[in-house]
Amino acid sequence: MIKSRAWRKRCINLVDSKTERCKKEKIKIMKIKKGDTIIVTTGKDKGRKGKVDRVLPKDHTLIIQGINMVKRHMKKRDEKNPGGIIDQVRPIDASKVALVCPSCGKPTRVGYLVAKNLPASKAGEKERICRRCKKRIG
Ligand SMILES: [Zn+2]
Repeated sequence: MIKSRAWRKRCINLVDSKTERCKKEKIKIMKIKKGDTIIVTTGKDKGRKGKVDRVLPKDHTLIIQGINMVKRHMKKRDEKNPGGIIDQVRPIDASKVALVCPSCGKPTRVGYLVAKNLPASKAGEKERICRRCKKRIG
């Protein structure tokens, strides 16, 4: 089968646009959102639950109150910062936590459902669903 020059050109363009898109989307998709309840699956805080305070998609990390605390030895600076050992919350990698489903209360993976029959403005929007009970996650 002889493939035309135009066909080849089109193929190259397709590949180019794909790699470009990948470069642009270096930021990984975060399945966990602010306000979600999560459970830590690994590390020193394994098994602990918490609520997501902040999502940092650039680093693929989350800030969760009370999780991944580190002690910082601070020097005394002034009256406001007396120094000493201070507990600080460090971001935790999103791969170390699992979402706790609000419907079934179990740690779950997140699935996506592409909603149908939506108005044009919302076309292609996805809904998060629990992979255990298949219910929607807010
Ligand atoms: Zn569920």
